[in-house]
Amino acid sequence: MKTYLITGGCGFIGSNFIRYLLNNDQGCRIGNLDKLTYAGNLENLKDLEDDARYHFFRGDICDKLKVEQIFCDFKPDIVINFAAESHVDRSIGDPGDFITTNINGTFTLLMESLRYYKTLENNNSFRFHHVSTDEVFGSLGDDGYFNEKTPYDPSSPYSASKAASDHLVRSWQRTFGLPIIISICSNNYGPYQFPEKLIPLMILNCLAEKPLPVYGKGENIRDWLYVDDHCDAIHTIIEDGIIGETYNVGGNNEIMNIDIVRTICQILDEINPSENLNSYDELITFVVDRPGHDFRYAIDSSKLQNDLDWLPKETFKTGIRKTINWYLENQEWWQDIQNNTYQQERLGVL
Ligand code: NAD
Repeated sequence: MKTYLITGGCGFIGSNFIRYLLNNDQGCRIGNLDKLTYAGNLENLKDLEDDARYHFFRGDICDKLKVEQIFCDFKPDIVINFAAESHVDRSIGDPGDFITTNINGTFTLLMESLRYYKTLENNNSFRFHHVSTDEVFGSLGDDGYFNEKTPYDPSSPYSASKAASDHLVRSWQRTFGLPIIISICSNNYGPYQFPEKLIPLMILNCLAEKPLPVYGKGENIRDWLYVDDHCDAIHTIIEDGIIGETYNVGGNNEIMNIDIVRTICQILDEINPSENLNSYDELITFVVDRPGHDFRYAIDSSKLQNDLDWLPKETFKTGIRKTINWYLENQEWWQDIQNNTYQQERLGVL
């Protein structure tokens, strides 16, 4: 039986990962350490609250005493660090929390992981898995892909703070021997994504018949991965990955932002047509670009595919339909956020 300590498990990817693990590993035990920032939501895991394998700890990864206590009581074999401030636009408006959580928080987790690791009699199965983003590599031009050896060149306070945390994690292995693995993933989408991010923002603005703000000319390109495929990749890496290695995770779905928005409009025109508009795409509004907006991300995940036999299962065509249907069927989830936390206003304008 494996015991997992997951940080940031009340956020988008963390909550999907916890659900994935409980469905795919009957014998696991999961602790979820989450501060419940604006992005953390207990509703994301409401259906699992009564599962005896699942335990929630409210707390901050920067809180050394809290983290130490959890290691001591819960005794994890695997630590997976999802906890982060994750939205580029917020990092432009207010970078402080990004430095604190993403850098200092990761440092605290590393210190306490190492302290605990050294106390273990049999520490062969211990792992510290750090979840990172392809944004650490900066921007690509029209050609080429990020691979695991691409030099870091982050553009935003968010990606710079994630890059710093990745460097800390690697150094804890090289200097102190902590068994770490890093996965670097492209843009995720799917259920439970906070509506500040492109895809849920556009879906909810369509439903409210509000303008669909597209940054610049909408020509920026991202590589999109359905969140379950990311969860499956992390699980594969934990099971079979080699300590000290980094694995890129991507969906081979390079799409321009404007095409994402048009696709959402087309699907909603078909399954939930507006009574007032011929098409939701009438709402598309080009707005001033994000400062430092990277042009293109594209990830080469051949190492993960060849060495660990992982492949994404979802195409963008199937994944985006599932996602739109999920937001249509879970209105209470996002209406609570709209009523209490965030009303889809623009963030990160200088
Ligand atoms: P999210 O913003 O949806 O969730 C972050 C979670 O971390 C929230 O539950 C929040 O409450 C928690 N948290 C924040 N600060 C904390 C702290 N100090 N202590 C404890 N908990 C804290 O983020 P996400 O989109 O689920 O991303 C999860 C991880 O995956 C992040 O590390 C992010 O950099 C990385 N990532 C995200 C994407 C993506 O497309 N969303 C892609 C690649 C990598």
